[in-house]
Amino acid sequence: MRVLLLGSGGREHAIGWKLAQSPLIDRLFSCPGNPGLAAISETVPGIDPTDPVSVTTFAEAEAIDLVVIGPEAPLAAGVADALGQAGIPVFGPTAAGASLESSKAFAKDVMVRAEIPTASHGVFTDRASAIEHLEASHAPYVVKADGLAAGKGVLVTDSLPEAIAWVDGCLGGRFGNAGASVVIEEHLAGDEVSIFFVCSSGTAIPLQPARDYKRLNDGDEGPNTGGMGCYSPVGVDDSLIGWTQTHVVEPTLNALAEDGIDYTGFLYVGLMLTEEGPKVLEFNCRLGDPETQVLMPRMETDLLELLHAAAHGSLVGAEIVWSDKHAVDVVLAAPGYPEAPETGLAIIGLDHVTEALVFHAGTDVVGGRLVTSGGRVLNVVGLGDSLAEARADAYAAANLIQFRGKHIRTDIAAV
Ligand code: AMP
Repeated sequence: MRVLLLGSGGREHAIGWKLAQSPLIDRLFSCPGNPGLAAISETVPGIDPTDPVSVTTFAEAEAIDLVVIGPEAPLAAGVADALGQAGIPVFGPTAAGASLESSKAFAKDVMVRAEIPTASHGVFTDRASAIEHLEASHAPYVVKADGLAAGKGVLVTDSLPEAIAWVDGCLGGRFGNAGASVVIEEHLAGDEVSIFFVCSSGTAIPLQPARDYKRLNDGDEGPNTGGMGCYSPVGVDDSLIGWTQTHVVEPTLNALAEDGIDYTGFLYVGLMLTEEGPKVLEFNCRLGDPETQVLMPRMETDLLELLHAAAHGSLVGAEIVWSDKHAVDVVLAAPGYPEAPETGLAIIGLDHVTEALVFHAGTDVVGGRLVTSGGRVLNVVGLGDSLAEARADAYAAANLIQFRGKHIRTDIAAV
């Protein structure tokens, strides 16, 4: 099979690494890819992965059998729609399906219609009504830009003035069009868990859970990031996964189907485990990053076969087999991340790593040298028979790789 993978992060390197192992693969293209993907696939520079016409033209010219879409931007831009219209099999939802992530107001509307437990909410486009709503509620306040804001559009605060200022920022254009509506939610307290599913034509199959670390520094201190590390498996009750499948995912797929949306792709369900039971915080229409980097090495099932079946609407009866191995991912971040990561810093020591997988995220090759090009630079993933063994391998590898100002958390999987 000839496969095109869209995206350039650590998540896509891990997906590409897994796809490349499939006995069904003939050629793997990655667009735009990254230096890690360049070692295992043919990278396609010069094509914008969020441009539906360019991607479809390339896929037609190369007789691609399956397009796998990693990040949310091409999904929200309608790349899957264009590929579908051209008759090219694609794994990833249409723009309408991806609205579950690209519009928090749409996601809440689906949840309400499907009677899925979630925080109560209001959607506002006008300042006075938003503020009236905030004044009538109580701290903590939760205010969200409706659209895609690269994970930066949500404020949870005890301060009413801060909440009002966030409303002003959103409506005042701080997040561009993504903030033209704001969603104000009831605050939920509890532990957070994310559960991922592979979905197609009304069928959903869960993946194994993983735990990620969002804060920059040890002890969950410092600013929020895309994720500084992760491990799997974690002790999430099987009954919670079953509950999420029957009480969240299946009703969501049914509600979408009523709107004529046949959702094919990964679905990420963010849950808050409240005293009243689990409630949905958010949906994402893709796999998590860095969760993918620990899930792919543990998946024994042929990912290409699975995603190809999903793209053809034939997931019924499919199963995913997992290894008993533990996986730990430590993210190597650039100095200045997340505010202003330094780029162009020389990276050395990768060739000394033998006991861990390395997935590239923010790297580039300039003048023949590997350099940093983004905030999260590399993921090192240790695999072992125990969490401790996997963790030791990941940290040993993280210490072998050097660039100026390298930042890692030292407490990933220290449980
Ligand atoms: P979201 O992108 O909507 O998941 O929000 C990002 C983060 O904000 C979540 O992972 C939670 O930590 C927090 N959050 C979002 N909504 C709520 C809520 N209703 N109550 C408490 N925390 C929330």
